[in-house]
Amino acid sequence: MRTLLILAISLWLTACGGAERATSGDTQATQPQKIYKWRMVTTWPKNLPGLGTAPERMADEVRKMSNGRLDIRVYGAGEVVPALEVFEAVSQGTVQMGHGAAYYWKGKVPVAQFFTAVPFGLTAQEMNGWMLHGGGLELWRELYDRYNLYPIPCGNTGVQMAGWFNKEINSLEDMQGLKMRIPGLGGEVFEAIGGTAINLPGGEIFTSMQTGVIDATEWVGPYNDLAFGLHQVAQYYYYPGWQEAGPTLEIIVNKEAWDELPSDLQAIVESASLATNADMLAEYTARNNTALRALVDQHGVELRRLPDDVLEAIKEVAEAKTAELAEGDDELVQRIYESYQQYREGVIEYHEISERAYINARGS
Ligand code: CA
Repeated sequence: MRTLLILAISLWLTACGGAERATSGDTQATQPQKIYKWRMVTTWPKNLPGLGTAPERMADEVRKMSNGRLDIRVYGAGEVVPALEVFEAVSQGTVQMGHGAAYYWKGKVPVAQFFTAVPFGLTAQEMNGWMLHGGGLELWRELYDRYNLYPIPCGNTGVQMAGWFNKEINSLEDMQGLKMRIPGLGGEVFEAIGGTAINLPGGEIFTSMQTGVIDATEWVGPYNDLAFGLHQVAQYYYYPGWQEAGPTLEIIVNKEAWDELPSDLQAIVESASLATNADMLAEYTARNNTALRALVDQHGVELRRLPDDVLEAIKEVAEAKTAELAEGDDELVQRIYESYQQYREGVIEYHEISERAYINARGS
């Protein structure tokens, strides 16, 4: 009788335990969960405030949301591949993922510049509208599919500064012959108004200014420029950043790696990238003015607005250069250009009576 009782109790306990396992971890019990270990290369110095910390944040979020099932290790420029080889490395599958800016690849994919920034193009808020609700992201994915890549927006700095100059710019004349680090279509526009444009990754700017390889540089805005110490190599700091009003940064994922991910991990990667996209803009918005005050008040930087004749000349050339991107018989390139231009016109019309009208009415 006693033996039977013990047997009954132990059977009951086993049944309970079994039932618990069945309800809480049915799939795990039959299918052990795969851990994905990925590498992400970036075009930024490791942990550079904003640009470099954003991909780290994104990878952290993915690790937490996936309970460690997708573990992404982030590398700074030059650790695995040089900054300007990120696109190739991800495209070819050397690594699974990259973080950078589409306009760095203009030599290979000129039209990709629309997905970062074009001169006098969209602001951050406007870019997010085009990307996420105006058809931009679908076109970007169609384009990058040709290169075996899947892009996701992951960061935006907001309106940048026009850059650092080692002399005052009082007219268009003063731009003649200047060697300036300025990537993307902005660089082509700068050449058209008489300068020489050089595309250098961020990590090489300081030394190039110091040694006189370049006379001027744009980088980002006060928050990043202070971190780079650019006030130590140039005295004049110019605005507004006509070349990049709202540059979108990109996560690029190798297509095979992307297709191999289960759908829940894909959703986590998308969500973490878009959360970082919003967070970076918030970070720059909150920190730029404090950094600007430090540059001007503590480091004696001379803050200047570009003269009107310079801005007018740039605007004139910018439109023509942007239109040149749509030349040729690639119908996808034309669709990208038309989508961007059509959206731009509409959003400018509405922002006349919303953003601009409000900011004007608010005054200072
Ligand atoms: Ca820039």
